[in-house]
Amino acid sequence: MLSVDPCGPDRYIPAMSAQTPAAQPETTAAPQAETLPLVIAPDPRLKTRTRLVTAADRTRVSALAQRMLATMYAAPGIGLAAPQVGVDLRLAVVDLQPDDKPAPIILINPKVEKTSTEEVTREEGCLSIPGQYADVTRPERVTVSYEDLDGQTQTIEADGLLATCLQHEIDHLDGILFVDHLSALKRNIILRKMVKEKRLRKNG
Ligand code: ZN
Repeated sequence: MLSVDPCGPDRYIPAMSAQTPAAQPETTAAPQAETLPLVIAPDPRLKTRTRLVTAADRTRVSALAQRMLATMYAAPGIGLAAPQVGVDLRLAVVDLQPDDKPAPIILINPKVEKTSTEEVTREEGCLSIPGQYADVTRPERVTVSYEDLDGQTQTIEADGLLATCLQHEIDHLDGILFVDHLSALKRNIILRKMVKEKRLRKNG
């Protein structure tokens, strides 16, 4: 089954412990951009509603988006939202790499305009919750509006994995994690594991 933001512990841990970095795809949208450290749950920055990107943020956002893409490809993942790199802005990047070629989408101030009544259940993971996966039920299709780097409004009508991925990333901008869609029981099992792992990392 396909995962959103997939990131198995075997790829994640070497990348974070400064051993051999995970291999980069041969061509990325921004081979020059440096990666950013990922914010790992539990962290209050992942639970905060982010602010709108304004015209004054444009220059910064363009460079930041390239670094977020580099971070996402290196992880590897298929989506990354600004809070996951500790930035309080409504900005996310997504790339499902159809045909194994980079096809990045940079979403500034994205908004879910319309959702289908039909729902779909898909296994999700998150670069901020490494090694944890769970089935999440969401609308099957979405219409999302966003601004591109030129400030033009764009619209995507998505289904399949892209629809799930867009909803997962936009949730991040509102301080919502995929575990927040689970039952309290399932959520607490995952969060307790995350607390324990964070403590181990600090002590190790
Ligand atoms: Zn995520």
